[in-house]
Amino acid sequence: MNDAATATNLKAPKGASNSEGEPSPAPAPSNGHALYEEALANLQRAQQYAKIDPEALERLKYPTALIEVSIPVRMDNGKLRIFKGYRVRHSDTRGPAKGGIRFHPNVTLDEVKALAFWMTCKCAVVNIPFGGGKGGVEVNPKELSPMELERLSRGYIQAVADFIGPNVDIPAPDVYTNATIMGWMMDEYSKITRQRTPAVITGKPLPLGGSLGRDEATGRGGFYCIEELQRREAWDSSKTTVAIQGFGNAGQHCAALLHGSGYRVVAVSDSSGGIFDAAGLNIPRTIEHKRRTGHLPSEGVKRIDNEELLALEVDLLLPAALENQINRTNAANVRAKVVLELANGPLTDDADTLLFDKGVLVVPDILANAGGVTVSYFEWVQNREGYQWELTRVRERLQAVMSREFNAVYDFAKTHEIDMRTAAYVQALNRIGEAIAAHGTYHYFADQ
Ligand code: NAD
Repeated sequence: MNDAATATNLKAPKGASNSEGEPSPAPAPSNGHALYEEALANLQRAQQYAKIDPEALERLKYPTALIEVSIPVRMDNGKLRIFKGYRVRHSDTRGPAKGGIRFHPNVTLDEVKALAFWMTCKCAVVNIPFGGGKGGVEVNPKELSPMELERLSRGYIQAVADFIGPNVDIPAPDVYTNATIMGWMMDEYSKITRQRTPAVITGKPLPLGGSLGRDEATGRGGFYCIEELQRREAWDSSKTTVAIQGFGNAGQHCAALLHGSGYRVVAVSDSSGGIFDAAGLNIPRTIEHKRRTGHLPSEGVKRIDNEELLALEVDLLLPAALENQINRTNAANVRAKVVLELANGPLTDDADTLLFDKGVLVVPDILANAGGVTVSYFEWVQNREGYQWELTRVRERLQAVMSREFNAVYDFAKTHEIDMRTAAYVQALNRIGEAIAAHGTYHYFADQ
């Protein structure tokens, strides 16, 4: 349920963070101050195609505001521990900032800035009226008791309460934070402001103002992209083979929808390896087995490892686990025709270039997994309306957003003969640039 869902990573979305996604896998260790600079490099590639004023581009290089806070927590043993936390509002030109909060020992301010930048881009790609934000606490949540975790979550909100708000900056879950934590945080914010304020945070439990369809949103959004691709490339779904790395929230929902539409999902994997069946796996049974036992089934299927899965000769490869999974060392082995990034940042820059040169079509994370943040936006709208939408309405509107934006990016990439990642950034830059320029640029003022 992250916003972004949220990216986990440190090398997250070359486009975006995993935000507005479910609690995600742990990030890699941060590399000092390089990450934010690296994230901005995406702008360089896209700017030559974008209609963006140089002043607007310059503005985007600097986060709007950021804070570092200390969070004192009374531990169960009676001792006081102080945790360090951050919240970054990268941009609020297109609307309030939006982005998850991660609890992880490797969280750094530089990482949070990069993740917030990716959220600015992701929200613009799918044209939802939000900017980008992100938050984090340096903590290993696995070392905390449930009560310590609740005190820390409430303490974070006490520390950042003046910095967030339904019209200012709206957090969501990210790595190692979940719906329960969002519920505590919403409750704490409501106590501080003495007004029940569900719209301050998304990814909440349903009875506390969460949205129907939020849990499936990322996988479903990816599926809608695939449906459009099928239409544009005239695929026959019954002849289209799929391999999915990562069988968690995003991977399972997408797998179930593909299976239901007649696609042949031949391989899936989790952190302990994968399974393969050339005739196509029984996905509902696989999901049920995983839910019941925590493991993938092994009867009637061939066990494969994750590297074998990534190298399968399939039509569609869906990385839906961690960042940097396809990289310099294994990108040459990829034989899929299309890679759709359900995870945040599953391809390194090297791999991206290599796959493009090989003619592999890569649908980038800032588009492919934006279904999560889109339904988070719907959650915020419902909270403000005070009216819960039916599931069919959530799905219809998600489909409308995903197919419209997918086709716009696809067309731009085809017309300019560029990769879809660059095209997605161009789309984001055009929209952000328009909003910044609407306040006036050098030309506006100089020509008066
Ligand atoms: P999840 O924790 O539910 O699932 C992750 C899955 O990946 C698990 O099945 C885990 O076993 C598997 N995995 C871990 N390491 C692996 C490895 N080395 N090889 C293969 N599988 C491995 O997480 P999720 O919410 O599905 O998120 C997955 C990715 O999607 C993350 O990058 C996340 O940032 C991104 N994302 C999720 C959402 C969302 O709404 N859930 C939104 C946007 C982006």
